[in-house]
Amino acid sequence: MPFKNLISGYRSFHKNYFGGGKKLFRTLVRDGQAPETLIISCSDSRTDPAVLTGSSPGDIFVVRNVAAIVPPYKTDSNHHGTSAAIEFAVRTLKVKHIVVMGHSFCGGCRALAEKEALRGQYEFLSRWMEIGNPALEKVERELAGAPESVKRRALEQALVLVSLGNLLTFPWIKSAIEAQSVELHGWYFDLESGALLTHNPASGIFEEIKTSA
Ligand SMILES: [Zn+2]
Repeated sequence: MPFKNLISGYRSFHKNYFGGGKKLFRTLVRDGQAPETLIISCSDSRTDPAVLTGSSPGDIFVVRNVAAIVPPYKTDSNHHGTSAAIEFAVRTLKVKHIVVMGHSFCGGCRALAEKEALRGQYEFLSRWMEIGNPALEKVERELAGAPESVKRRALEQALVLVSLGNLLTFPWIKSAIEAQSVELHGWYFDLESGALLTHNPASGIFEEIKTSA
């Protein structure tokens, strides 16, 4: 979409949410936000969680970064932007659900899979994707002889599970899960079919969510 279309899009947004007596933002300002769900998704322009879930302003708290990664809990002096957003969502907004949503054809996962070829090309991206090394090692170990497309999809899904595992390293998330006040979900969005898959911890696989209820 050309940049100028974003301005006409904004005009339409303003009309829909602020014009004609629409009260949504007035309520959201008066009462504050109270989203029930935190979604951690990729920055990829094709995987907007609000569009995908039909959410309105105020419905979901979203963190987007390269490859929808949750880093492990660390309280060192580095700037942990993703962890800060997770902290606010869990400790202040008290979300009840945390979703990590990966997707097919993820450029971040591609960078992880091709890290040897890309060595030295990026200042930040490669180091960020190192968080996904356990997913890469798992796929290389279990699917060594598989076609590249199969390995890539497995890597994208394994990375969602690494992020879910990293969420458990945050002590206040672990205790909230034990108290059953927070539930974790692993999602995977298939760009080609439009299917949204959810990880079934019992079967260990990502299963399609039915498109009709
Ligand atoms: Zn991505």
